[in-house]
Amino acid sequence: AEPLTEKAGNVDIRIVDVAKEFGDEAALYGVSLHIRAGELLALLGPSGSGKTTLLRIIAGLEVPDRGQVFFGEQDATSLPVQQRRVGFVFQHYALFRHLNVADNIAYGLRARPRGSRPAEKDIRRRVSDLLDLVQLSGYERRFPGNLSGGQCQRVALARALAVEPRVLLLDEPFGALDAKVRKDLRGWIRQLHQRTGQTTIFVTHDQDEALELADRVAILNDGRLEQVGSVDDVQDRPETPFVMAFLGDVSHFIAEVVDNQLLIQGRPVPVDPPADLSGKVRLYCRPWDLRLAPAGEGHIAGVVTGIRRVGSLRRVEVTSPADTKIEVEVPAATDLRIGQDIGLEIVRGRVTE
Ligand code: ATP
Repeated sequence: AEPLTEKAGNVDIRIVDVAKEFGDEAALYGVSLHIRAGELLALLGPSGSGKTTLLRIIAGLEVPDRGQVFFGEQDATSLPVQQRRVGFVFQHYALFRHLNVADNIAYGLRARPRGSRPAEKDIRRRVSDLLDLVQLSGYERRFPGNLSGGQCQRVALARALAVEPRVLLLDEPFGALDAKVRKDLRGWIRQLHQRTGQTTIFVTHDQDEALELADRVAILNDGRLEQVGSVDDVQDRPETPFVMAFLGDVSHFIAEVVDNQLLIQGRPVPVDPPADLSGKVRLYCRPWDLRLAPAGEGHIAGVVTGIRRVGSLRRVEVTSPADTKIEVEVPAATDLRIGQDIGLEIVRGRVTE
C-alpha cells in the first residue's frame, strides 16, 4: 500500500501546443504552458476564453485534438482521469449528499483497488489530518446539507487532497459564494498552499482573485495564451493591449510617430515607439502611467469628473474634450475638486498600431 504520509507527488506540468474544437468552434488554439512543480498558477481570462477547457484537458476529462500534456516526464495526453492522480474542485460543490463529511473525504482512498487501498485506521488518520488542515475538525459526522457553502467547499478541497494528487485543479471554486466568504477562502487557499506546497492551478475570471492568490498568472483570451508571468510581470509589464485592458482601467490615445519620436498634440511623450511603426498609432496607458499637471500643461487637457478611494490611493476620473474618460491614480493627499480643469502628463505607456 502507498504510504499516506508521503509528500504529495508534485510534478511540473507541460502543456505543448494543445488545441481543441467543439463542433466547428475552436475553444483553444495551440496553447503551450509550463506549470512549475509546487507553484500556484492562476488561469485568468474572460468568460469563454477556454480556461475550463484547458483545465479539463489537464484533468483528463477532455482529450485535446492536437498537442500533448506531460506530467513530469510522463506523456499523460491520453491517460485516463483515474490514473492521473489529480484532485479537482469545481464551482458547484459535488459532495455526496448521502455521505457524511468523513466518508466524503475518504471516498477516493476507499475507491482504490485492493492492494493500493490504505488500511482503515490509516484512512481515518488521514481524514482527521485533512479536517484539521481545512479547519473543520469535529465535523466528521455532519452531512453536506448541514454545512454552509464555504464549509462544503473546504470539505471538497479536503476530499481532493486526500488522494495526494500530483496537481490540484480548482475551477472557480468560490464562484457561487458571497463576497465575504470568497475573500476568507482566498486567504485560506493561499495559506493552505504555503503549508502544503501542492502544485495548484486555479481558474478564475476575477483579476483581483488571481492577483491576490497566485505566484504566476496565465492570461487567456479567445482560446489563446496572451501572457504568462508573475503578478508583477503581468501588472507592470503587460505584453499585449488585451492584458493591459483586462488588468486595469486602461485609457487609450491617438498618438503620432514622427522621426521615431512619439507625439501627442505635437508634444513629445517619453515612450519609445516600436521601430516598425510610423504615422498614427494607439497609446495605451494604465491609471499609474499618467500624472496630473496644472491646467494648460501636460499632454492632454480635461476636467475632473470623479474622485474615489482605492486603498491608500485615489482614482481620479478625468474627462477630455473628446469625451473620453481617463482614470488616473494619485496619492490620497492630492487636492482636487470635481469640475476643476486639469492637465495630464503621460509618463509611460504601450504603443500599438
Ligand atoms: P467560463 O468562465 O464562462 O466558464 P471559460 O474561459 O472557462 O469560460 P470554456 O468553458 O473553456 O471557457 O469555453 C471555451 C469555448 O468553448 C466557449 O466558446 C464554449 O462555448 C466552448 N465550449 C466549451 N465546452 C464545450 C462543449 N462541451 N461543447 C460545446 N462547446 C463548448
